Amino acid sequence: MFGSIELGGTKIRCGIFGDNGKMLDEIRIKTSDPKDDIKEVVGFFKDKDIKSLGVGAFGPIDVDEDSATYGRILQTPKKLWRNFDLLENIKKELNLPIGLSTDVGASGIGEYELGAARGKGSSLYLTIGTGIGGSFINDGRILQTSFHPEMGHIEIAREEDDKVKSLCDFHDSCFEGLCAGPSILERTGISGEDLDKDHEVFDLLARYIAKALMTYSLILRPDIIIIGGGVVNKEGMIEKIRDNFDKINTGYVSLPRSKDYIVFPKLGNEAGLVGGYILAKRAIDKTSL
Ligand code: ZN
Repeated sequence: MFGSIELGGTKIRCGIFGDNGKMLDEIRIKTSDPKDDIKEVVGFFKDKDIKSLGVGAFGPIDVDEDSATYGRILQTPKKLWRNFDLLENIKKELNLPIGLSTDVGASGIGEYELGAARGKGSSLYLTIGTGIGGSFINDGRILQTSFHPEMGHIEIAREEDDKVKSLCDFHDSCFEGLCAGPSILERTGISGEDLDKDHEVFDLLARYIAKALMTYSLILRPDIIIIGGGVVNKEGMIEKIRDNFDKINTGYVSLPRSKDYIVFPKLGNEAGLVGGYILAKRAIDKTSL
């Protein structure tokens, strides 16, 4: 059996997977104080007979295996978690091989191996919700070197009449600052869930998201782009994004039809935990090399 942890900003999910990839048991914990939370997590896994563990964690987190601070959460706005040595605190209680990535890295690898990107050579996974994050998988490997990508913070060229304040503390005009879920409330005074799906703000966001997807396509040219999260899940949104993508696609780069290229995740909310299971399996393969 294998263990999987999806460490999110609001909740932590822990799962036990059988050797066939089927989830056998699960707990959910509200993310609060790291010391208490990890005690609970470790307690869940302790008496289970797992061979290894895979972890997908919110970031920024040090994912460089050669770094002295590997596995440590870095400058997160969540103060209690800042500089928390996640990996060490799990490892000292559970002496097991552990595979680590970001939350979007784990979800991306889950979708790559067992979801919407199955059989593809490369894929981009993007979540557009409370925040924006992405991961790129090529030939089965998550792109993460001395640091993981921060795809939510690329600059987006604002439309002329778009003067809204960016909600990112670091950038005046970044993708997350202009397009993450809270930007809808900032622009309209109404949250995305409560707003009519035909409101013009969704057209603006679809244009911005299409621009970002084109930028990623030009740089990485994945075989498929998987997009999820609250903003994208709004009814009609993915079609709007595809329409705008087709408008700005001049044919310079050969791309699949947008219907086949820009798709929803297949594993839905399970992508992160399934990805953790894949990371756990890989951690074993690595130690047996
Ligand atoms: Zn930013």
